[in-house]
Amino acid sequence: MGLGRKRQVGSLMRDYKITLSEYRNSVKVPWRKLAGKPFGCSRWLPGGRALPLGWHVATTSPDSKARASLMVDILVSEAVRGPAIDALAREWNLVEDVQAAEDPERLAAYLPTIRAWIVRNRTQVTADALAKAPCLQVVGRAGVGLDNIDCQAAERAGVVVAFTPRENSLSVAELAIGLMIAWLRHLPKADRHVREGGWDRPRFLGGELAGRRLGIVGLGRIGCLVAERAAVFGMDVVGYDAYVSADDPRLDEYGIQWVPWNELLETSDIISCHVPLTPETRHLIDADALGRMKPTALLVNTARGEIVDEAALLAVLKEGRIAGAALDVREREPPEVGALEQLDNVLLTPHIGAFTHEAQERVVTAVAEDVARVLRGEPARQVVGRARPER
Ligand code: NAD
Repeated sequence: MGLGRKRQVGSLMRDYKITLSEYRNSVKVPWRKLAGKPFGCSRWLPGGRALPLGWHVATTSPDSKARASLMVDILVSEAVRGPAIDALAREWNLVEDVQAAEDPERLAAYLPTIRAWIVRNRTQVTADALAKAPCLQVVGRAGVGLDNIDCQAAERAGVVVAFTPRENSLSVAELAIGLMIAWLRHLPKADRHVREGGWDRPRFLGGELAGRRLGIVGLGRIGCLVAERAAVFGMDVVGYDAYVSADDPRLDEYGIQWVPWNELLETSDIISCHVPLTPETRHLIDADALGRMKPTALLVNTARGEIVDEAALLAVLKEGRIAGAALDVREREPPEVGALEQLDNVLLTPHIGAFTHEAQERVVTAVAEDVARVLRGEPARQVVGRARPER
């Protein structure tokens, strides 16, 4: 090493409090190779330390995975794609690695450098992961459920959690209504029957939505949209929400009659779940709730699988103590093919509530815009808790 270089390294070690071995083990990246953009280094040196010169000490890990992730500003750890994500990638160094959602070791390699992390519902954004991401400013959740994100830990760490609470509500509401009709009219079975050459019409005698009582559990965004649509179909709509009172003006607006929990269970022909997953709502539909339902009732769940005790549901379905279930979400996803899949009175979809072209475009655009806003130092539009990052 020449004298000039030695002096540079000596001052680096002093200024940035790194040892010679740390310096030697560090991955050094030529300034010019950083996607042609003027990168500030403070983002991957905890504590706001920045390196001048044409070299960056980005990490002290010689691990090749860390090396690969070295320059990542934005990690997209699930399939969140579209023009809005492409726009982010033009401005920041963005990597999509969907395997990182399942592989903690792979994920750990990105955490030291990322400033933004875009997820759906598979990636677990835990307190531990947040602690390992000292430069992280924003977690962008493309969707609405926040049960995979430790929002309290994020708030403590000063990390903004941006999400898209409204963008897919309509699609979920339409699926809930679609599942009701599909179940009542035996659509999947009828389709299979015709494909196999059948035309046995009486076998598919179904039922109408009109005149049936729909019990909506959770009168938030999706619950209200379901109510509005159900009313158009001529259903008698009742609802229960632990945090919405019987005199809430929204109930009139959406044509919902608030009823106590047990009354909803005991009088509804169809029960549709639209509560978030919380410790309180886990197994809200348990053996007791299922036992109160009418033997002719249909249970629809497009919220979260764990809201329904699946073992208890299996038991009542097998014994014919309720008429059927239509489930978009499961206690374990993806589920193992088991006894539920064998039942004739069950209709199953693979968590597709939000998966429409329209909803996805709205979700991806909204989350990408909020991530960009935070990275530019502006407040995000749709956040959980604090609106501004503290780092
Ligand atoms: P929201 O927050 O607008 O409404 C949820 C409602 O549930 C609120 O009114 C709340 O007061 C009520 N609630 C909370 N705890 C309750 C309890 N213990 N008992 C009764 N009511 C309770 O949420 P939203 O936008 O309507 O979404 C509802 C849920 O739908 C989400 O949390 C998410 O889990 C699920 N979801 C599923 C999909 C899918 O793909 N299937 C897509 C989007 C959302």
